[in-house]
Amino acid sequence: MQNEVIIIGAGLAGSEAAWQASQMGADVKLYEMRPIVSTPAHSTGNFAELVCSNSLGSDREGTAPGLLKEELRALGSIIMHCADRTRVPAGQALAVDRGLFSALVTKELEAAPNIEVIREEVVRVPREGVVVIATGPLTSPAFSEEIASLLGTDHLYFFDAMAPIISGHSVNWSRAYWASRYGRGDSDYANCAMNREEYEWFWENLIEAETAEMHEFESLQLFEGCMPIEEIARRGRDTLRYGPLKPVGLVDPRTGRRPYAVVQLRRENVPGSLFNMVGFQTRLKQGEQSRVFRMIPGLEEAEFVRYGMMHRNTFVNGPEHLSATLQLTESERIFMAGQITGVEGYMESVATGLVCGMNAGRLAMGKDPLTFPSKTAIGSLCSYVSTPCKGRYQPMNVNFGLLPEPPRALKKNERRMWKVALARQSLHDFAGSLRGGC
Ligand SMILES: Cc1cc2nc3c(=O)[nH]c(=O)nc-3n(C[C@H](O)[C@H](O)[C@H](O)COP(=O)(O)OP(=O)(O)OC[C@H]3O[C@@H](n4cnc5c(N)ncnc54)[C@H](O)[C@@H]3O)c2cc1C
Repeated sequence: MQNEVIIIGAGLAGSEAAWQASQMGADVKLYEMRPIVSTPAHSTGNFAELVCSNSLGSDREGTAPGLLKEELRALGSIIMHCADRTRVPAGQALAVDRGLFSALVTKELEAAPNIEVIREEVVRVPREGVVVIATGPLTSPAFSEEIASLLGTDHLYFFDAMAPIISGHSVNWSRAYWASRYGRGDSDYANCAMNREEYEWFWENLIEAETAEMHEFESLQLFEGCMPIEEIARRGRDTLRYGPLKPVGLVDPRTGRRPYAVVQLRRENVPGSLFNMVGFQTRLKQGEQSRVFRMIPGLEEAEFVRYGMMHRNTFVNGPEHLSATLQLTESERIFMAGQITGVEGYMESVATGLVCGMNAGRLAMGKDPLTFPSKTAIGSLCSYVSTPCKGRYQPMNVNFGLLPEPPRALKKNERRMWKVALARQSLHDFAGSLRGGC
């Protein structure tokens, strides 16, 4: 039907998308399967239910999560509106009363004149019309199969383990060195060498470190191929040295010898501003990850832009299937929003929901979808999910590594403020062009 947008899933992304599409003048049909069918992590029928923490992350100026919230507020996000009205004291973080928050989101959407709510599990992608898929990391199994058949089964990832990502500028480059095993291929890995004493100190702390609790369903998802690093370590003093920390073929240029063990860092993005800790998928609590992983020589000051974690996650290979407008390259009438695109986190899901809602609304109203500037926090996430990356595509939080680097060397804080200023100007210009009727 003309002017109509169908949105599947009323989580954080789908709720935001529904609101934005309705603001564009579209008639919205919002499908949500809860409370008739639930997921292993949700417990109510309310929209935008927060499945774990009640914190939406830092709201501080000069941080990447703070910048993202600022942009969302500026663009009239319904989720930010409800969060600001239900916030609870949490220092510089934006935390909410989870019950009041999701009840308010539900009330606002149900009261909107051009949003029709349908409580039903969707198992088929509608064969026509403008559609937004926002079914999240716990997409119902039947619908997961449908998406897999739409995109090809190789392209829907069921992922349950993630290693931490650290920022490149926080690595001590006087300790870390570039090399690939036996000098084969390009030196794409940064290596942190350990002597025997350093390794044993690290190992002892790792096996004693505290792990996060997991939901019962998640324990079923453990596979040998993505065993947490602390589990591998518990199998014996040397298992890591024969596994992810094996030092063979990685001579340390400082000593001219093979180290006792080596931690490898792999570039996570093309500019090389972010690094994945290879083989460090973990269930350790976040504080424990900071404490123990900073014992690795070269990572003493490591800044974690995403901590390692384990949970079931359904996401598509964004760079293969999505454009920066969040349309499927296979079918431009279909959009994807939220964690299913490969962004990670509550607010990142909201941001992609906002973009999808605006763009799906525009398409339904006969206008072209818009590409958000990649200099903004919102645009940088759209760019991440749609740009080919080195190595395996992995979920990503908002962080300064996704934003363009300044043309000259600046101190850490100045660099951040430069990026914030550029993002603000870009959003201002972009919003101005929207008001100009583009
Ligand atoms: C266990 C777990 C804990 C997490 N903890 C955090 C955290 O603490 N902090 C953080 O920032 N991020 C966390 N995340 C990651 C992520 O931020 C959240 O999952 C976030 O809610 C994702 O937003 P979304 O809108 O993409 O998905 P969701 O908020 O999950 O919304 C998807 C919606 O789609 C509905 N749905 C699914 N299938 C269908 C279907 N076939 N038909 C109709 N409706 C359907 C679901 O019921 C749900 O309401 C966690 C993820 C998981 C799985």
